[in-house]
Amino acid sequence: MSDTQKNVQRVHDAVRAPRILALANQKGGVGKTTTAINLAAGLAEQGFSVLLIDIDPQGNASTGLGVGYDARRLGTYALLMDETPPDDLIQATEIPNLSIVAADTELAGAELELVMQDRREFRLRDAIARAGQGFDVILIDCPPSLGLLTLNALVAADGVIVPLQCEFFALEGISQLVRTVDRIRRAFNSDLHVAGIVLTMYDRRNNLSELVAADARGFFGDQVMDTLIPRNIRISEAQSHGRPAMTYDPKSSGAMAYLAMANEVVARMGISKPKRKAARA
Ligand code: ADP
Ligand code: MG
Repeated sequence: MSDTQKNVQRVHDAVRAPRILALANQKGGVGKTTTAINLAAGLAEQGFSVLLIDIDPQGNASTGLGVGYDARRLGTYALLMDETPPDDLIQATEIPNLSIVAADTELAGAELELVMQDRREFRLRDAIARAGQGFDVILIDCPPSLGLLTLNALVAADGVIVPLQCEFFALEGISQLVRTVDRIRRAFNSDLHVAGIVLTMYDRRNNLSELVAADARGFFGDQVMDTLIPRNIRISEAQSHGRPAMTYDPKSSGAMAYLAMANEVVARMGISKPKRKAARA
């Protein structure tokens, strides 16, 4: 390819292909879902058209964005099984620019059912190729395991964001995740890389938080994002009201941290600024 062709290709890719980021860590309770919801809302607030795919059968991201049980009849399971036109699965949320494919009730059985499917590792990637073209960014909220659902997310994604809770044993299991990412890159998806490690529930009054942060930076260097997500009760309150922190309490430390994280993700991933006007100035 000539340089001109390469540039054209680059512009073409930037215009067409959504950036796809999976939030993954096989540990539960580390802030995957919280980061998915609030990063999605932060990107949407900047005017990006964002789709959040909830691939965790627990459906916390769906609940956290106000998608009630009645609205969960069709979602990620149907998307994976290719039974329903994708447009029927994508729902608007109350946040401008932010849509979701919710965790439907059958998703709990998908891990087993997928084993029998053709292209079982590629179901989500194929679905996004059919359904995701109108979006600038797609975020995938993974379950706390490295099973087939997470595998589907990582095969579909071009970057993984790993939330790391500032707690004891935070780094335990991360090397397994990094090895999994390497294996998936070799076997299925050469684009996949760790796009960032984000420290969550950081408590500046607690020395342990500082120790975990220093450890993480020692191991992973620049892969650790500059933005620290503080422990902030408004973040979990917001979720119980079905809202991201940015609309529940825009001035809270949690909302501001996730907005800063959204900026950092845009810069790190080289996501081009949307041409549309931001939803909220
Ligand atoms: P995961 O998806 O990795 O299992 P969650 O995002 O659901 O983790 O977070 C686990 C719990 O911690 C949830 O109840 C959530 O509301 C809470 N939580 C997450 N991040 C924060 C934070 N920065 N401050 C306060 N509570 C948080
Ligand atoms: Mg979760």
